[in-house]
Amino acid sequence: MTGSLSRRIVVLCATICLFLAILAGLLLEGAAQTRSSLAWVTHSTQVMRTANQALLHLQQAESGERGFLLTRQPDFGETVQDEVAASRKAAADLVTLTSDNPAQSLRAKQIRLLIHQRATLLEEIAQQASNGDFTTALNAVASRRGRNLMQHVNARVGDLLAAERHLSTSRTAAVKRRLDFITWVVLIGVPLGIAAVTLLAALLVRRIRRPMEAMMTVMSQLAAGDRSARIQTAMESSEFERLAREYNAMADQLQAAVAHQEESQDRLHAANAELSRNTEILQERGEVIELLGGMAHRMQAARTDEELAAIIRVFAPRVLPDLPGALYTHNNSRNLLAPLACWGGLEVPASGFAPEQCWALRRGRSHHVAGPQSDVVCAHVDRQVDCYHCEPLLAGGEVIGVLYLAGEVEAETRFRLTVLAENIASALVNHRLQRGLREQTIRDPLTGLFNRRYMEEALPLEIARASRSRDPVSLVMCDVDHFKRFNDEFGHDAGDAVLQAAAAEMRKRFREGDVVCRFGGEEFTIIAPGTSATALSGRVDVVREAISQQVVQEGGRTLGSMTMSFGIATWEEGMERDGSTLIKAADAALYRAKREGRNRVVVDERSAAIIDGGGGAKAG
Ligand code: GH3
Ligand code: MG
Ligand code: MG
Repeated sequence: MTGSLSRRIVVLCATICLFLAILAGLLLEGAAQTRSSLAWVTHSTQVMRTANQALLHLQQAESGERGFLLTRQPDFGETVQDEVAASRKAAADLVTLTSDNPAQSLRAKQIRLLIHQRATLLEEIAQQASNGDFTTALNAVASRRGRNLMQHVNARVGDLLAAERHLSTSRTAAVKRRLDFITWVVLIGVPLGIAAVTLLAALLVRRIRRPMEAMMTVMSQLAAGDRSARIQTAMESSEFERLAREYNAMADQLQAAVAHQEESQDRLHAANAELSRNTEILQERGEVIELLGGMAHRMQAARTDEELAAIIRVFAPRVLPDLPGALYTHNNSRNLLAPLACWGGLEVPASGFAPEQCWALRRGRSHHVAGPQSDVVCAHVDRQVDCYHCEPLLAGGEVIGVLYLAGEVEAETRFRLTVLAENIASALVNHRLQRGLREQTIRDPLTGLFNRRYMEEALPLEIARASRSRDPVSLVMCDVDHFKRFNDEFGHDAGDAVLQAAAAEMRKRFREGDVVCRFGGEEFTIIAPGTSATALSGRVDVVREAISQQVVQEGGRTLGSMTMSFGIATWEEGMERDGSTLIKAADAALYRAKREGRNRVVVDERSAAIIDGGGGAKAG
């Protein structure tokens, strides 16, 4: 297992400290011993100097004695006294100084004793000389006792000095050895210390640099975008191994977080793109729906099939650009699909086709042929066409037509096609419903003729037009003669059948622009624009004749023939423009016809004077 770096540092530092402590101890010890040796050398020097001084003072005392005896001057006596005292003191000091060394101490004591003896002798001689007894003094000198003593002193001092010199030499040698020792300690210890510290530093640097470089390399890779880079966890020390493990764990988390973020970002981008696409589609669909809303609104206001066709011709190419097409609708008997409108340059036969000729109608769903032999081709399609689309128009589960498109319908156009088909289908149904409702409000349900309300709306319009164009407009009022009898004799249904027969005849006989209405009961009104009463009377008489020739049947019964009476009047300036005066005039003429025996045509007298150039009823 890898060791701890900090523990290693502590151990190495402790070792170096120990080494330095030993080195310092050795140096201190060396220094202390050197200092001690130097003190002993100094001591020896002091011993030797003291011994020499004791000897020197004694010799000077001898010189003083000789001077005294030769010159007989008393101040030499004083010199002897001083020098003897100094020598004695030096000898005493010497004894003190050598107390540490028994051999030298013994010699010092002998020297002190000898100096004492010699000094005492010198004092005695000096005393004798001072007393003037020079002879005794000279005899004492001549006795050689002083000289012998001095020789002993010299010999003993020489011994002491020799011994002390020897000691001093050995002590100086000891100092030199200590100094050599210190020198060697410094020469060996300092390089060793430097080497140890350098080794420690190198070891630390190596232990730190390698893992640091490994980590920095991985961090650089991470910074450069390589999120899979990881640090080798086998490191030089447990601290770096832990650091690497922690870093790798952090990198794992970072990688997971970044991956998660990227995933979220991708999803967000995809959602945004989807949203943009949907927005575009919605916008486009909104535009299409708005366009189709405009188309449906116009189709609602259309009165005729021609108007419907015109609207579809304008809007279908706007909803499906570059796609020629045609709209077919069922005829009333639902056995034929007739073209209502074509656009984009397409032309189709006006005869239309039978429902079974179209696969879309047969299956009640879109039929798309994308290319040759891709699907069966409808019989109503030109043989040369191999790419087309048939969309059935469905409203309330009922097929009301088909949308034929000569070309490829792309997937993105399908929505446009679907809503176009739905809008056209519902607009057509609405249009038909509206037309039916309008028919109901203006038609009489029994006879199918226009009702009185329609007549009262149409008459003022025709009068206004006639007044503007100065063309005449005439009104016929007619009534079934003795109609009550049919009711009384055959029942109410028979009466209805009589009314239907009379209405059918009139609708058939009057011309296209004439407005044939059921005024109420068994009375009828015909508005005849562009013709005068006189010109009209012949035609009305033909109608009257035709009706009178009819034999009415009802429920297998023969009801017999009927007759009708007719009154005709023409509008002229001065009459009410709402038609009321004209109706009264025609009614009055009818009344006259009844009165004059029925089954006849009577022209209003004033109207008979009005002459016109032509028109009138269809020939019978
Ligand atoms: P005139 O020759 O004088 O016109 O005699 P008329 O019998 O035709 O005239 P009248 O006014 O006496 O009778 C009209 C009758 O028509 C009265 C009414 O019951 C009947 N009637 C009115 N409307 C209808 C209808 O819609 N159906 C039937 N079956 N009868 C109707
Ligand atoms: Mg009648
Ligand atoms: Mg009547």
